[in-house]
Amino acid sequence: MEEIVARVGKNLAELRQNFRSGRTRGLEWRKTQLRAILKLVAENEDEIFEALNRDLGKHPAEAYRDETSSSNYITESSCLGLLSSFLPRFMAEAATVVLVGKLPLLLFPAKAEVLPEPLGVVLIFASWNFPISLALDPLIGAISAGNTVVVKPSELAPACSSFLARIVPLYLDNKAIKVVEGGSDVAEKLLEQKWDKIFFTGSARVGRIIMSAAAKHLTPVTLELGGKCPIILDSLSGSDLKVAVKRISGGKWGACAGQACIGIDYVLVQQKLAPVLVELLKKCIKTFYGENVKNLNSICRIVNKNHFERVCNLLEDPGVAASIVYGGSFDKQNLLIEPTILLDPPLDADIMTEEIFGPVLPIITLNEVEESIEFINARPKPLAIYVFTKNKTFKEKVLQETSSGSVIFNDTMIQFICDGLPFGGVGQSGFGRYHGKYSFDTFSHEKAILKRSFFLELEPRYPPWNGFKLEF
Ligand code: NAD
Repeated sequence: MEEIVARVGKNLAELRQNFRSGRTRGLEWRKTQLRAILKLVAENEDEIFEALNRDLGKHPAEAYRDETSSSNYITESSCLGLLSSFLPRFMAEAATVVLVGKLPLLLFPAKAEVLPEPLGVVLIFASWNFPISLALDPLIGAISAGNTVVVKPSELAPACSSFLARIVPLYLDNKAIKVVEGGSDVAEKLLEQKWDKIFFTGSARVGRIIMSAAAKHLTPVTLELGGKCPIILDSLSGSDLKVAVKRISGGKWGACAGQACIGIDYVLVQQKLAPVLVELLKKCIKTFYGENVKNLNSICRIVNKNHFERVCNLLEDPGVAASIVYGGSFDKQNLLIEPTILLDPPLDADIMTEEIFGPVLPIITLNEVEESIEFINARPKPLAIYVFTKNKTFKEKVLQETSSGSVIFNDTMIQFICDGLPFGGVGQSGFGRYHGKYSFDTFSHEKAILKRSFFLELEPRYPPWNGFKLEF
């Protein structure tokens, strides 16, 4: 432990010194590091796939879609592309001049500017479910804003963690960017230090620990947490319903087997539509994965024994077990849980009060789809709400009457790749946002600058006070 403390302290001192030296502030340094991340991913994609397979049984195609492609494409819509091509403009906001007319008359003549400046030395905690992209995405933001950085990958994805620890120093400026591996003991030591920003992706439980540690040093935090993301399925039919079911199935089972913060937790649907929904979901599961849980070679496994037992325990509740209409079997040895559908499990069961984070999908039936708004509002604010509907009035109603990190109409999980949109939660699903320009802002301080000349003095601003100055 003493060795960890010494290492953390040494790393931090070095990073602070290098930040103060101005090493990371220039546009060229930032662009070079961002390009190096592109190179790192492109040149080591096979190794990344291998590590993701070892940690989560993630299929390379899924790994490509969720973990490497978003940083591979230099397009305007990719996080890295957006930052590389627009970085000069973000930084040039230093030159954003607020028109003289917008300043208080009392200050005439004056010029106002906003200068985005890096925060300093920042600490990033990544989580295990998307262990590469959820480490690199915030790192891209921190670099683009000109900070020095420590990334702490999750110990629950050890192959990805050691890959990052080994590869990052080979590609990125080791004097400004470091990877520190370890579990909660290391995390606690890191949290004892003073940082200029902490960016945390993980559970609300650890989020609270992060916030109280940060409070000691008045360190700003961004918390990317989770929660229960609902689907509202309105009365669709025919091909619309089929498309909806495919997108629900892909979002539930096809993204880390439901171990995703913006993954679908449960579906709200009118009672009369439930039987056809269940049948279509079953059909979709069989098309995706076949029928035998032992043959599930393209669905992720549960990350470890503890999480596996946690999800199995959720299913053991007698009321929940009785609500299983598909699946429910598991392979303990390989930590696989069969895609499972529940119909109307008890609402007070743990499965309906805790984040499921696994391949189990409860369907909750309602008399009218409008009741879904009250259902959602009676629970903590979700990270995302997914609504499948063609009804414009209902869309507006959901937007006006619910609160969540995001609302997605007629699809699932796609918001993560839209870098023009802020990504983040509200209430218990977290606070702060990132992606694209929002990442740059999250890791910057917008310094207000006011420039005056020595010309023109307005005497009413100064004593001695008199009636004329009061009326002025
Ligand atoms: P976690 O909170 O258990 O762990 C996250 C990090 O916290 C790890 O690096 C871990 O080392 C560290 N940690 C653990 N115990 C600690 C302690 N006592 N003190 C200090 N640090 C500690 O989260 P997880 O299980 O890895 O991830 C699952 C959760 O993360 C889910 O709730 C999910 O919804 C959420 N999540 C959110 C996002 C998002 O972008 N909003 C993305 C992925 C996951």
